[in-house]
Amino acid sequence: MAEKDILVKVENLKMYFPVEKTILGKVTSYVKAVDDVSFAVERGKTFGLVGESGCGKTTTGKCVLRINTPTDGHIYYKGKDISHASKSELAPIRREIQLIFQDPYGSLDPRQSAYSIIKEAIVTDGKPHTRDEIDKRVNELLATVEMIPEMGECYPHEMSGGQRQRLGIARALACNPELIVCDEPVSALDVSIQAQVINLFKSLQKQLGLTYIFIAHDLAVVRYIADTIGVMYLGHIVEIMDAGEIYTNPVHPYTKALLSAVPITDYYAEQTRQRILLEGEVPSPIHAPKGCPFHPRCRYAKECCKTTMPKLKDIGGGHLVACHLNGPSRT
Ligand code: SF4
Repeated sequence: MAEKDILVKVENLKMYFPVEKTILGKVTSYVKAVDDVSFAVERGKTFGLVGESGCGKTTTGKCVLRINTPTDGHIYYKGKDISHASKSELAPIRREIQLIFQDPYGSLDPRQSAYSIIKEAIVTDGKPHTRDEIDKRVNELLATVEMIPEMGECYPHEMSGGQRQRLGIARALACNPELIVCDEPVSALDVSIQAQVINLFKSLQKQLGLTYIFIAHDLAVVRYIADTIGVMYLGHIVEIMDAGEIYTNPVHPYTKALLSAVPITDYYAEQTRQRILLEGEVPSPIHAPKGCPFHPRCRYAKECCKTTMPKLKDIGGGHLVACHLNGPSRT
């Protein structure tokens, strides 16, 4: 990926939250929500982040949005390091980086109509707008997310889950963003509505040249929308690959275990395929295991896995894997 094509680059990102302090205020332990995460997102493409709940994918998204200020590492947006940028330095790019939430109902003001919610986002540019201009733009945005103009009069509680998520998308688009961080945007929706909303994301990307960081725990959803996929486990990225490779060439044992849990519609293939059942619980991020964070649950773990953290290595064609055994496929 050429440097000029990169919209966002995350380098060695760490986000630690203090959990215990001594009586003198000295921090004695941290939740290491994100620990040494690096990836790049190409302009106009989708980077999918997958992993179990609590693996750090949402915290990574919040750092990119600068809702959280990282403990360490760098976040480059259009080549500029914004990891520790001040409020005033962030102001010009706030509108360019938008967020779409998992729970659209919780993220919309129940006392405002759809019109008013979208209008609020339009006028944050600080420019003077006439009533006609705002009406036109609101109707345009409703049409973009495939809603009729009359829906502008509705309140969030009068809408279905899918309509509320479309309203959330329209609100994000009102700021003319370049990057949208989508945090589990379809996981609260019915399966049939999920497909419609994902197709909407795809068509908006084509029309408007948007770049997405798409966070989800459902590999099938991420594979459908993403160009590149990063798999996270306990605050670390353990594998990065082209979306097309996730079913054909997964290498990290954790990615394989995740894949084996994805239901498939072919009855005979489902009967014969080998399920990989992970034993044990995800360790606490406060007392993360030494070495490879996956070693307590990995059936391939060797002595070195308990002491040495594997680094992400390119195994060919930009496919990165953090495993001491990386190489040929194992089942
Ligand atoms: Fe398993 Fe070791 Fe690879 Fe970690 S580094 S995934 S423990 S084989």
